[in-house]
Amino acid sequence: MQEIVATSAISAGDEVTVSYLPAKDEGSDVRSVRQEYLLTWYGFRCLCRACLKDGEELEADDAERRMIKSAQSSRSGRLDLLPLSSLESLSLGLRRVGAKLPYRLEVGAALLERALREGDLAAAAAALADNYSMEAVIGGGGGDGGRWASLVEGERPTMVEVGGEIHLFPAFQE
Ligand SMILES: [Zn+2]
Repeated sequence: MQEIVATSAISAGDEVTVSYLPAKDEGSDVRSVRQEYLLTWYGFRCLCRACLKDGEELEADDAERRMIKSAQSSRSGRLDLLPLSSLESLSLGLRRVGAKLPYRLEVGAALLERALREGDLAAAAAALADNYSMEAVIGGGGGDGGRWASLVEGERPTMVEVGGEIHLFPAFQE
């Protein structure tokens, strides 16, 4: 059985779309590249929300994706070699363009590891909270944060605000 998880809230009547493209490749590319790829390999012109953007909205979306592609292709595409600041902007960019959760989690894992290695606890806490909630969503709503939950004993999730957004955060206990 294949499970499908929404990356955002769905209201009644909303059209539900699925991305054909991997987030670590063409899926993170600018519109013209994505559309060319879909037309060549799948034979259709994509009319999803991201592809229908125009004007300043499209400019902003494409700019975000150019930043993502540049972070993805630096250091031979190895996430574990990216500096903390690049991993942070990559993670933020992927969230802004609504990239697929498994890839966002892959980046989040690299980000958490890098932040811990550099002793940046604020960045580590933000990454942990982010990974925890993504894992819980991937786990099907009733998820427990999976491997991230094991980082904290006897966690009792609380909501905290990180960078202007609310995250589910496992509270540490003495
Ligand atoms: Zn599209």
